Amino acid sequence: MNRTKVLGTAACLVLLAAAGCRNVPEERAWMVMGTFASVSAASGDRARIDEAESTVSAEFTRLERLWSYFDRKSEISRLNSGTAEPVMVSPDTLRLIRESVSVARGSGGCFDPTVGPLVDLWGIGGRREFRVPEESEIYGAMKRCGWEKLAAGDDGTVRFMLEGMRFDAGGIAKGLAVDMGADLLAGAGMTDFMVNLGGNLKCYGRGRNGRDWKVGVQNPFERGKVVGILGIGNGMAVATSGNYERFIEKDGHRYAHIIDPASGRPVEGMAGVTVTAPSAMLADGLSTALFVAGLKRAGEVLAAYPDVDAILIPDSKPAVLYVTEGIIGRFRPEEGVTVRQIQLP
Ligand code: AMP
Ligand code: MG
Repeated sequence: MNRTKVLGTAACLVLLAAAGCRNVPEERAWMVMGTFASVSAASGDRARIDEAESTVSAEFTRLERLWSYFDRKSEISRLNSGTAEPVMVSPDTLRLIRESVSVARGSGGCFDPTVGPLVDLWGIGGRREFRVPEESEIYGAMKRCGWEKLAAGDDGTVRFMLEGMRFDAGGIAKGLAVDMGADLLAGAGMTDFMVNLGGNLKCYGRGRNGRDWKVGVQNPFERGKVVGILGIGNGMAVATSGNYERFIEKDGHRYAHIIDPASGRPVEGMAGVTVTAPSAMLADGLSTALFVAGLKRAGEVLAAYPDVDAILIPDSKPAVLYVTEGIIGRFRPEEGVTVRQIQLP
């Protein structure tokens, strides 16, 4: 297992780069799914946090084996083997696929877990080197995408309706894994903790001093800096899409790692999106979706999810934050940061 122990202070700095964290009294961090994971507890009970780390770490490793796009033995790889035959999957994978399809439908297709052929074509998922494809290649890959052509049956089977389709859980799997890890801790009676996987966070109870958990929202233009601090209450999750580190620079142009399924190209014009939601799955899926929706269509997507709030940061300096009403009372912007409210339809 690829596990790196990181001391509390160092881990907090790392988290600031990934998603932002402050006010973490007791924390364990390690590497999994190609990113940092951590559990934090408001109380300083070391035995408890050690136990929480081993529980969540075992769960994340188990889910990585099921959901990895790279591991040829994973269930997702079996599904992606190229045929249009039904594939029997475990209940956890069926849940991942059903939740993905539900976010795809709810976001009007801005989130589309079948963008795999486009992600591979552009080389933005680390599967091969980035390149700008020909028009005809983009068109060819787009024909093999479309969440409506992914069917999950009640018998536990999943099927693509076209050959050559591929399921890419990269925009939602970490969020669902966080929910599953956090549920295990809550089920074991733990209170006042936070689980993080690559910037997808779920908080339970209270943070230090009995207050809300505090999460720094990363400044997409300045590494290691935040645009403000967000308070996260009991049972709330937060996720960020489009961290500065994940853009790709090529010939002086910056490409996002998120594809607009409607154009088959990396999204232009957004720098970062942070979402709060009742589940980390929804926060993760919708941060990716809103990155695609952009300022123009964000209201449309958000109107379908009344208990979800968002911060959108367009790709133009200095940073201007567009936030939903629910963010305003619990967000403390850094000095000089402009905040505007998004009007929902
Ligand atoms: P996130 O960092 O959660 O926004 O997820 C980004 C990852 O999701 C990418 O690396 C791709 O694997 C995948 N992805 C890219 N574009 C989309 C999209 N429009 N819908 C769903 N997943 C996507
Ligand atoms: Mg996401």
